[in-house]
Amino acid sequence: MPLYRFICKNCGKEESLLLKYNQQPPRCSECDGELEKQISRVATCRKSESCSGCSGRNCGSCG
Ligand SMILES: [Zn+2]
Repeated sequence: MPLYRFICKNCGKEESLLLKYNQQPPRCSECDGELEKQISRVATCRKSESCSGCSGRNCGSCG
């Protein structure tokens, strides 16, 4: 099974979960909120880099 990274839309908690292809995303373990699957590796940007690939949620410099 592939390992996916999720971010809770409600509280922002990151979760890395194994998920079957047809399985619905699980709920957040903290708040039972909806988890959003991250398609690619989570973009983390350094201050010297462009933030063009960053969602903003995980970034302390462009959020
Ligand atoms: Zn949550």
